[in-house]
Amino acid sequence: MIGSNLIKARTRGRSSARTPHGLSRPATMTWEPRDARGFSSTILPYEPTSQKETAVAIEVRNLSKRYGAFQAVKDVSFEVPAGQLVALLGPSGSGKSTILRMIAGLETADTGHVVLTGEDATRMPVQERGVGFVFQHYALFRHMTVRDNIAFGLKVRKLPKADIKARVDELLELVQLTGYSRRLPSQLSGGQRQRVALARALAPRPKVLLLDEPFGALDAKVRDELRAWLRKLHDEVHVTSLFVTHDQREAFEVSDQLVVLNEGRVQQAGSPQELYERPNSPFVASFLGQVNILPLGTIAPHDPPRDVTAGDPLLLAGAEAAADAQIYVRPHDMEIHRERNGRPAWRAVVTRVTPLGGAARLDLTIDDSHGIQLELPSDRLAGLNLHAGDAVFVVPRVANIFDPHSRTFQPVGGGTDAAL
Ligand code: ADP
Ligand code: MG
Repeated sequence: MIGSNLIKARTRGRSSARTPHGLSRPATMTWEPRDARGFSSTILPYEPTSQKETAVAIEVRNLSKRYGAFQAVKDVSFEVPAGQLVALLGPSGSGKSTILRMIAGLETADTGHVVLTGEDATRMPVQERGVGFVFQHYALFRHMTVRDNIAFGLKVRKLPKADIKARVDELLELVQLTGYSRRLPSQLSGGQRQRVALARALAPRPKVLLLDEPFGALDAKVRDELRAWLRKLHDEVHVTSLFVTHDQREAFEVSDQLVVLNEGRVQQAGSPQELYERPNSPFVASFLGQVNILPLGTIAPHDPPRDVTAGDPLLLAGAEAAADAQIYVRPHDMEIHRERNGRPAWRAVVTRVTPLGGAARLDLTIDDSHGIQLELPSDRLAGLNLHAGDAVFVVPRVANIFDPHSRTFQPVGGGTDAAL
């Protein structure tokens, strides 16, 4: 069980405390080392570098929430370091919005704490928390212009007119909507509206920004553009952001770190790459991308068999694993050959070849019973001249061996000199 998760600070060359846009970083706070109980093995040990990098802007501690008899959020703990963009990723119904709403103060937690820039905000009213939100359905004020929408939070705070104008101009530039200030929301595209929503949320200089599937209602191309844009924007303004999504690709593209949720619990937290390569559960392995799962016994040593102790990492790992262990291997982490090449391989038959542009997908069966998918570059496919019905050998380059008894993964391969 993961009782608490530390998301290690990672920098992307962010340095200034005050940005060109004048948005200040959340106040730095003293770092207090946390109880190591339940730290996931995939999360690197804490390495102090500087106060700035290690300050925690959002801390969620043992948060739980029940709706009637239904437990929507179960003892959730995680931290978001100041200045990072962290994705809360999980399937629909996993409790993401409920957690975000509890951080915002729109929902009360049954148990647990929300700490914002060092201050316990669990019982603080929404307006005192200093959070900005952008929600998929958090509509703009329809009868207000873009300028008035962005200025709204500043007018409520009764800021001097000249300051409001300057701040709105700055934000219009930041979200690339200078020249649109007099338009009404109905005169904007969906993507432009969400950029206005983001500017409105950023206007009062929130300590943290919460985004709940902000691009969920937009079509695929606009979503792609906005993701890239949001990432770039975040690199400029560094406002600590928690981004909710059910889309693993979106989470990978946008975030520094991920917190993966399933059925109201944190499954794993860490960098996208760590989680992808070193999942701690079948759920995380499958949720973060396509993966083939095969009984370990289906993989055959090369011919003639070698002494296992002197052999291949896959066989060595397999020798230590339970008899009912499984191999998890991603479609692009496999090689395909017409002949055996001396490594452990599956003997397979091609059932379908699907060109996907620069790459191709192959559907194969192993032992007439296990279907797998493999991805390879189109030129490699052309070189092999493969067709449905061809017999081939499939060699995992990188894999994880899952032991169903200890519920742990053992990674195999991946190193430059690994023999896989
Ligand atoms: P997600 O955002 O990950 O899709 P939610 O946090 O919205 O998940 O919901 C988690 C679970 O709690 C879901 O099963 C949902 O039906 C339930 N839920 C959310 N809000 C309420 C509510 N106000 N009343 C009852 N059940 C709710
Ligand atoms: Mg939701």
